[in-house]
Amino acid sequence: MQIIRARVLGMCMGVRRADKLAREAAQEATRTDCRVYTYGPLIHNPQAVAELEALGIHVLDAKAIEAGTGELPDLRNAVVLIRAHGASLAALSRLQKLGAHIVDATCPRVIKSQRLARHYEKLGWQVVLVGDPRHGEIAGILGHTSNTLVVDGPETALRMAEKLKDHPCVLIAQTTIRQEDYDAVIEIFQSHVKNMIAEKTICPATRERQTALTELCGQVDALLIVGGKNSENTKRLHASAVDCGKPAWHIETASELKAEMTKFTRIGITAGASTPDFIVDEIQKTLSNMA
Ligand code: SF4
Repeated sequence: MQIIRARVLGMCMGVRRADKLAREAAQEATRTDCRVYTYGPLIHNPQAVAELEALGIHVLDAKAIEAGTGELPDLRNAVVLIRAHGASLAALSRLQKLGAHIVDATCPRVIKSQRLARHYEKLGWQVVLVGDPRHGEIAGILGHTSNTLVVDGPETALRMAEKLKDHPCVLIAQTTIRQEDYDAVIEIFQSHVKNMIAEKTICPATRERQTALTELCGQVDALLIVGGKNSENTKRLHASAVDCGKPAWHIETASELKAEMTKFTRIGITAGASTPDFIVDEIQKTLSNMA
């Protein structure tokens, strides 16, 4: 059996950078005897979070910090790493007041969206974020401004665009949404709002993994999609693989490999943007030993 990896797969630049900074902080902490926390889970992947936990990197409840509620550990002499999604100004300030030393691993693309939101709000424009209101990135950008709105699809976009028709509006997309979904919202705003701008904030990482998967589909008989069951972009990769018409499985670890996956001449492997390399390597090695 031949195992072929997708041309682009696994951790994106922002997650890779956050993971590296967390490991460096953990190493430094062994010298300086301080504790290391991440602001919410660093990565949407339970195995990667467990691996970081084993290195002494613990997870703080980001939603509680964002809401200003909940008990927090003593953060004096502690490092808190801000994940790639970023955090609101209020959350950063709460962490600082509690004595934490902040290491900011916010993805540069998310920082750009936060800056754009602040810039347009200062100019008096209505900032409208397009994405999932429960997502950490959206919560973070909301907390960099005071009057930003969120639309999660065409229905809310239509209601909002009708109300905002005489107000200058800027649309800022969550970095990980699909271009088609953003385009649908842009079209609605363009037809209702006289003065509007749609900023290009969608990250190419998701599209690159989707394109590489489409190429891979043409070269193999079946597909393994590796990543957390809680990872939206991994779920989307799996849905695309199923659409290709080839047998496709979404697995998190090598323990989910089954004998039926070894009956193909060529099997392709891809992985979501939050899947660490060691998991993909382990799956490839185990599958090859099973064949
Ligand atoms: S998907 Fe893109 S924007 Fe999001 S963390 Fe990765 S590189 Fe940054």
